[in-house]
Formats: sequence, C-alpha cells, structure tokens
Amino acid sequence: MKALYPGSFDPLTFGHLDLIKRGCNLFGEVIIAVLENPAKKATFPLSRRMEQISDATKDIAEVRIVSFEGLTVNCAKENNVDLILRGLRAMSDFEYELQIAHTNRSLNKDFETIFLATETHHSFLSSSVVKEVAMFGGKINHMVPKLVADDLKRLYKK
Ligand code: ADP
Repeated sequence: MKALYPGSFDPLTFGHLDLIKRGCNLFGEVIIAVLENPAKKATFPLSRRMEQISDATKDIAEVRIVSFEGLTVNCAKENNVDLILRGLRAMSDFEYELQIAHTNRSLNKDFETIFLATETHHSFLSSSVVKEVAMFGGKINHMVPKLVADDLKRLYKK
C-alpha cells in the first residue's frame, strides 16, 4: 500500500521522522507531501524543507518526496495513494486533525485518514517548539536531524 504523509515540515523533526519510518513498516511506501502554502510564510523555503527531508530519509528506500499546493485530497489522487497518514501527539491535536479528516472525507471518499500515535518521547515535539528553543540558543540536537539543527543554528545566529 501507499500512504500520503502531508504536512508543512517547517522544519522536519524526529517526531515526523518516526512517523515516516513507522508508516513505511506498516504500509510499504510513504509519499511525503510538503505543503507550499502561499498564505502562510514558512521559516524555510519549500526547496530547503525538501532537502532536509531528503537528507534525513536517504537510507529509507520506501520514501518519496513531493511538494503540493492546495487540497490534500487532490495530491492524494495525483499520487495514486491508498490512504492519508497523520500523527497525533495529544488531545490538542485531536480536534484539529479530526476536522481535517472529516473535511477531506467530504471532498473525496476514496481516501481514509489513518492516525498514528506519536512515541511518548516525541509527544512534546513540534516544528514551532524547536524553532523557539533554537531562537534562544537552546539545545536542539535531540529534536531534529543534524542538517536541520545546523540550518536552525545558522538562521538564528544572525
Ligand atoms: P501541518 O502544518 O500540516 O500540521 P506539520 O508539519 O506540523 O504540518 O505536521 C504534519 C503531521 O505530522 C501532523 O499530522 C502532525 O500531527 C504530525 N506530527 C507533528 N509532530 C509530530 C510528532 N512529534 N510526533 C508525531 N506526529 C507529529
């Protein structure tokens, strides 16, 4: 089976990476779909976010990286996937994720959304928390892959 894992990945964290690896084990193939959202200014440009993911997943053969704009269900259709994969960290994610899953289902009944619960030790991790820690010079090596950590350190050194 083929799963679509859509998100902003701004930037990729070990939480995302964990979900990608477990998705590959479960479904066989994971298409990571990186969102280009013109309405929301990203910290890292799309091309860099894709490079960060590509570097972190270079040893995982079952992964493909694409970019998309607009509706997730359209991206799912274009990539011929069987399902949409999303992660749940805490109750706070649940309401938002459920709303998106229902919305996507109302748009296209071909795709189910499957949720994977995060590993406990990654449950506090989000791209925005990592950026906040990096901004204030805190340690981030346990939160993100090396290339991302280097990018963040460079970004906030200025
Ligand atoms: P979006 O802007 O679409 O929410 P994100 O990059 O923040 O994109 O997240 C993409 C998906 O990865 C979401 O389903 C989110 O819940 C999940 N995710 C984010 N961080 C973690 C984590 N630490 N562990 C597991 N899943 C996560």
